[in-house]
Amino acid sequence: MSMNKPMPAPTEISAPFWNALKEGVLRIPHCTACGHWIFYPRRHCDRCFSHAVEWREVSGEGQLYSYTVARIPTLPDFADEMPQKLAVVELDEGVRINTTLVGVDEAEIRVGMRVKAVFDKVRADGATLLRFTGAEKDFPARLDSTPEALAAATDAKVTAEIAATSVRQVRFDDEAAMKSLVSDVFTPWSSKVVVDQALIDEFARLSGDDYWIHTDPERAAKQSPFGGTIAHGALVQILQSRLKMPLGFEVTGFNNMVNYGSDRLRFPAPVPAGSRIHARARVKSVEKLAKGMQLTLEVTTHVVGNDRPSVINDLVILYM
Ligand SMILES: [Zn+2]
Repeated sequence: MSMNKPMPAPTEISAPFWNALKEGVLRIPHCTACGHWIFYPRRHCDRCFSHAVEWREVSGEGQLYSYTVARIPTLPDFADEMPQKLAVVELDEGVRINTTLVGVDEAEIRVGMRVKAVFDKVRADGATLLRFTGAEKDFPARLDSTPEALAAATDAKVTAEIAATSVRQVRFDDEAAMKSLVSDVFTPWSSKVVVDQALIDEFARLSGDDYWIHTDPERAAKQSPFGGTIAHGALVQILQSRLKMPLGFEVTGFNNMVNYGSDRLRFPAPVPAGSRIHARARVKSVEKLAKGMQLTLEVTTHVVGNDRPSVINDLVILYM
């Protein structure tokens, strides 16, 4: 979840709904003249037209009225939330709310299933979105999806995984052992980083590449084939340094390690501003040269949820 995603703009009439969500409470307007529940929020009752409307707290329980699973992002900004489980929930009070489902597998979703509210904080200022999950699910009623919280959670998870994995020590001059690292299988995913517009702007300033497709969200929304701004390929490439990667081995015994550059650098898929990225790697080849042992590490960086890499980088490292 990033700052680049479109957010609701509370109005004077709807603000109580959004403010209640921040507290982890669902409040819906109720007509005290005829007893009708009203949604979306309005000044008057949409049944009897009375202005005797008051906000009342409700349980947040209801049933799934309809849903669809979107496999192409509804906006480029949602590329890291695929597939989106878009739903209409009918609360027990009778009103229907557009929402997204969380914590349920696609195969479990059934029209008519019982659901309960989940309050998902998506911005550091407390802005919270209403989502729903299965009523029987052991799923937290409140989520913290702010970029900061997600980064901390995933870093902690990957750090724990790396700590729990036995790291194989391999001497750089043991050719057979080094060659046994070569594999078609990639490592598990690394930690994640959010590539937001602020980071892209900073890179544009440093590199001097301030082409509008990176730096002008308004123009990019209208003219870019990607529907919004995208990160520089070179930025996504260097962000590999920020990602914690569970490699599973450590090369030892060398006097000097030289980063020789790249055998292959490709940017097959864009990284829309606001996407989360992660990476994985595999040892592609090991070659004994006169000057030392050369290892080629294929690192692929992806937008989370996207099978197609955004960066393919065959890093060449020489151990001497
Ligand atoms: Zn009424």
